[in-house]
Amino acid sequence: MNPKKCEEYVVEMESDKILFADAESSFDYAEFAILGVPFEGTTSFRKGTRLAPTSIRKESYNFETYLFDHGTDLEDVAFHDMGNIKCEGLEEMMGGVGDEVGRILQEKKFPIIVGGEHSLTPPAVSKFGKVGVLILDAHLDFRNKYLNESNSHACSARRVAEHVGVGNVLILGVRSMEKQEREDAHDLGLRYIHANRVRELGIKRILKDLLWNRIYLSLDMDFLDPAYAPGVGNPEPFGLSPLDVKDCINVLAGKLVGFDVCEVSPPFDSGNTSSLAARFVRELIASVWNTR
Ligand code: MN
Ligand code: MN
Repeated sequence: MNPKKCEEYVVEMESDKILFADAESSFDYAEFAILGVPFEGTTSFRKGTRLAPTSIRKESYNFETYLFDHGTDLEDVAFHDMGNIKCEGLEEMMGGVGDEVGRILQEKKFPIIVGGEHSLTPPAVSKFGKVGVLILDAHLDFRNKYLNESNSHACSARRVAEHVGVGNVLILGVRSMEKQEREDAHDLGLRYIHANRVRELGIKRILKDLLWNRIYLSLDMDFLDPAYAPGVGNPEPFGLSPLDVKDCINVLAGKLVGFDVCEVSPPFDSGNTSSLAARFVRELIASVWNTR
């Protein structure tokens, strides 16, 4: 526990105004900008993702400012928390994410988007121009429509592929899809790697072959096995481990240009899922910062 922050944490537990631990920089001076997207409008099983940005921020106070593995103290890194966007409806959420990510990129900062559900990724990615999108997810999310909604979280990879080109998308950790999605993925040439294959080959070896220079990383927390991350909207057994995500972040750090973490559902959590999500944000900041 970070003692300096402990008191603030207790006070701010009561409010939604809590900011991510150590995000002490102003927007202007920050190299990284955190954006909360408290949205759950298209969730298909468990609700609760709208509570995740605040929950993840609260858990962020558990960790030391010094990241021992990286030799980096986050107190030395300029990062800013923009708070949550207003997002009562799907269109408002998509517009807000697009506007804010656009502003972050215009100011040459690194966007870190904390969801919310996976439907935030297409409007975020749409602002990057030419970019490779690596998605870590148990699900293919490649439906054309779900419950009559083409921007559902179950369609996020499909919409991302339309923005950046299907050849610029790779999904790792997949272990669930419907038959139609599988056919569409095959017909359109979507690349994905089964969770079992990721485990067999090792994520580092897979990422070594990735040729993209600019990478947006989208982490759906259900990529992880529910034993590690129980608090997600659609838990799926036989998943990967937190160290796979840590390796992924470390290996790609020099090429990353944007990051989101989504699908945490605090009402179904032991606390571990929000805590891991907070830690991944901290790992990412330290890893990327160390490559600069
Ligand atoms: Mn997803
Ligand atoms: Mn998923």
